[in-house]
Amino acid sequence: MSPETHQLAVEFLETKAGIEYSADVERTPEWRDAVDQAHEAPPAPPITVSITLPMYTPQELVDRITALAEGLTVVEGIKDTEVYLVRTCRGCGCTDEEGCFGGCWWTSETDDLCSSCATQDAPTGAQR
Ligand SMILES: [Zn+2]
Ligand SMILES: [Zn+2]
Repeated sequence: MSPETHQLAVEFLETKAGIEYSADVERTPEWRDAVDQAHEAPPAPPITVSITLPMYTPQELVDRITALAEGLTVVEGIKDTEVYLVRTCRGCGCTDEEGCFGGCWWTSETDDLCSSCATQDAPTGAQR
């Protein structure tokens, strides 16, 4: 019996017989009925799992996570998985959706560094 079925059976038993679950209960006819009901219970509605990754995630890692996500759909109850790439500041992890406190902007088109990070830890000693 899977842990989910077990949990369902306990719930059926509690609602049906109004009794508390105990170790002995698994030997009663009520328990057998509850297990039967739990097996017949419709599965949970399928869900879609969304995974967001920073834009600068290496392609190799994106591929691996995408493959993993596809593997997840084999698991019962998960209908679909989607992997999104989100532009994420490499300094603080802020995104277009969730910027820094007080607001920030991208310092360049190509560099994923937001304005708050650019002023806080500007590269030192790079150009001398
Ligand atoms: Zn930042
Ligand atoms: Zn920011």
